[in-house]
Order: sequence, then structure tokens, then C-alpha cells
Amino acid sequence: MAEPDLVIASPAGIPPAPTDMGVVNDLLDLLTAQAPGAPSAVGATSGGATSGGTTSGGAANGTAARGSATIGPAPAAPAAGAAADDAPASGAAAPRPWAPWVPRRVLVTPSALGWAHGAAVVERAAALGAEIVRLKADRLTGLPDSYRDAKTTMAVVVASPSRRRPQPIPPSADWRFDLAEGCPAHCQYCYLAGSLAGPPIIRTYANLPEILAELPPLIGQGSVTSRDPARAAEGTTFEASCYTDPLGIEHLTGALAEAIRFFGRTEAFGGAPAQLRFTTKFDAVAPLLTLPHGRRTRIRFSVNARAAERFEGGAPRMPARLAALRAVALAGYRVGLTVAPIMPLPDWRAEYDALLRDAAAALQGVPDPDLTVELITHRFTPGSREVLQGWYPGTKLEMDEAQRVRKTTKFGSTKWVYPKPVMVQMREALEDGVARHLPGARILYWT
Ligand code: SF4
Repeated sequence: MAEPDLVIASPAGIPPAPTDMGVVNDLLDLLTAQAPGAPSAVGATSGGATSGGTTSGGAANGTAARGSATIGPAPAAPAAGAAADDAPASGAAAPRPWAPWVPRRVLVTPSALGWAHGAAVVERAAALGAEIVRLKADRLTGLPDSYRDAKTTMAVVVASPSRRRPQPIPPSADWRFDLAEGCPAHCQYCYLAGSLAGPPIIRTYANLPEILAELPPLIGQGSVTSRDPARAAEGTTFEASCYTDPLGIEHLTGALAEAIRFFGRTEAFGGAPAQLRFTTKFDAVAPLLTLPHGRRTRIRFSVNARAAERFEGGAPRMPARLAALRAVALAGYRVGLTVAPIMPLPDWRAEYDALLRDAAAALQGVPDPDLTVELITHRFTPGSREVLQGWYPGTKLEMDEAQRVRKTTKFGSTKWVYPKPVMVQMREALEDGVARHLPGARILYWT
């Protein structure tokens, strides 16, 4: 039985939250390393919270979980990731702003509420109309079974010491750290499938100060930019939140803004060169534009050929991402393109050439974007395919082993990639397109 409502929402006292965005793609090798069904190295929560075996079919959608109290209104189902009209072609009028994602339910643990950051997340969600469910213990309960319900549920939890520990993430950066996991978008190729354990809810971490405090001791210790002379100018690099699209939930969490400010203070790293990086498919960059970033953050946009948009439900269209790219570049951020997942779609040569041409147009006149490009082809594992086909049974995304070649990762697991002749053709075309349209860009890797 639900306890009396506890008032947490107080919109007047809520600091304006940075708005939404979304993706990263370059840890595919790491993700595909996980055996199907194996517990995810990044999967669960923390502080005793876990999603394993705690689902409660009766607790979905507006029904308070047992052992919890409901805080705030039970909303009508919000439109997740507001389906914008098809974006205009490049050069047309500015794309409509993407509506921020609002969870239907937010589960919060007692420990998470004890952190000011966690309480602020809950306040923001309540102000947007989310049902707030205050759990009695730090163990997550009442997790929904269905994909639809899970994708509209967010949990605010405390990251455990193991969850807070940064991990290597070649070839993108020296280290990755997590602000959250799970994503509000619905990409039919999503690299999270088969990697995160349990239903695909979003977990966001309340103990942000502890998470950020893990980073300065790692200065100079990475294996990518800390070792590679060609990337040494980037300093020690830290990839934020590969297991979510951090901008897609930023209007709720405010965590990216905090991380950007943290990296902007050189004294936080003893004056040593350090750089924050994140990738997103989302476009609500306005709250980030005036932050004191000190050019120590690189914002990369995950982009693709327009023909791939059909696989990217719940994410802004390509012109919106490119407009956001221009906005952050003009605000002095270092920027990047994560072209992913590259696929031999119909007319792919012209499609990718148009993408790179549009990116160049978006950056026209920007003084010093310090543009980087990461090129990542599509791949899948037996486990990720099974999960994705369960989530998106009608998908037209090609995941046919007969059209792929098997590759064994250094972790011993299997992934299916394109045959070498296809890879060679695509690589030549993409690298040539970058050289022609974006001659000042640095290609960091092809995979
Ligand atoms: S759903 Fe899309 S935007 Fe979200 S993590 Fe997956 S691929 Fe990235």
C-alpha cells in the first residue's frame, strides 16, 4: 500500500536544467566482448541496488511499487522523444526543437535522495509531470517487464565504488566514466542491446561528486591519448557516459553541465591537460553554450546518412544534430563527428557524401572547431541481435550472418562485421569524403 505522498517537487526552487541530447558509439568492440546473457560489466546499479530478478509486472505504469511511496502526480503517458516532423533538408529552415523526454515513472532510492544531485534530478522530473516512486530500500524493485514500460522508467540510484571506477575505452579515449546508463531513444541497432542487463530502464547516478572525484588521479595514466603522440595534445581524455546518450537526459540530470564545469577548472586536475568527451544524437545544446568549459570538452555528434534515420526512433533528425554541432562549435567547444553505424545502405556513397557535405556547411565560418571524425561500421553479436529483434520485431535492419563475416574479439566473443571488400570500399569512400569536405578534420579511427 502506498504511503502518504511526500512532496518533493518544488518547481520554483528547481535550478534550470541543461536540456537534452543523446549518443556514443565507439565502444563497440568493448560492448561486443560481452557474452550473450552474461552480466554486463556496466549493467547494474549500485549501493545495493540491482535490477536482477526484481521485476514486478504489477508495478508498471502508474502503479506504485510495493514498499514505496508515490511522490507527485501520476501523469498521462508523455510523448517519449516527441516525434518531430521529418526535418527539412539541409539548407532549409531551422529544424524544430526536439521535445525533451519525460519518464512516466521515476524510482528513487533512499541513498540517492540523500545526495543533493539526486534530489535535484527527482525535483526536475516531478516538475515535468513524472510520477515519483520513493523506494524504501536501496534495492531497485518494481522494474517493468515490457520494453515500452521500461523505456519510460528512470531510476535514480547511487553508483557503487565499482561502478564509479573509470575503465579504459580504446580507441576513443583513455578512460570512460558513467553518469547514467540506458537511453530514451529507440535505435534499432542500439549498441546497448545485449550489453546492459535487465529491462532497458534508465539509471542515473546521484553521487556525482564521488564520480567526478575518481578522475583527477588518472591524469597521464591512459593508453590512448596519454600514449599516442598524434593525440597527445588532447591530454588525458575521459569519455562521459557511453552507456546512455547523456544529452538526451540532461534536462533531467544536469550531470553533463556539472562535468563540463568540472573539466573547465584546470585546478581540478592540478593544471594538467585533460579533456571531457561525449557523443550524442540529441540537439538541445542551448543550456551548454554559456558554460565555462575552457575548451576542455569535445562534443561529438553521432550522425549518419539520412537513410539511416528510419532506424533511429526517438532521436532528432540529422539537420537538427548538425545545427547543434554548429551552435556548440561557435560557443568554443571542440567538436567531432561520430559517423555510426556506417552501413551499405541504398545509394550509400551519395548518402554519406551528402552527410559530410552538410557537416561542412554546418561548420562554415566557425573559427576553430578542432574537428575530429570517428568512423564506425555496423556490427552485431548473436546476443545483441536477439535482444534487438525482441525489442523491434519488425525491423528492416540487416543483421544476416550470411552477409557478414565472423570476427573474434580480443575478449574471445563473436561479432559479425561486413566482409572485407565492403569494408574497404566504405572506408575509402568515407575517408575520401572527409578529405574533400572537411579537410581540416582529423580522422581518429575507422573500425
Ligand atoms: S538508443 Fe540510439 S541514441 Fe540511445 S544509446 Fe542506443 S544507439 Fe545511442
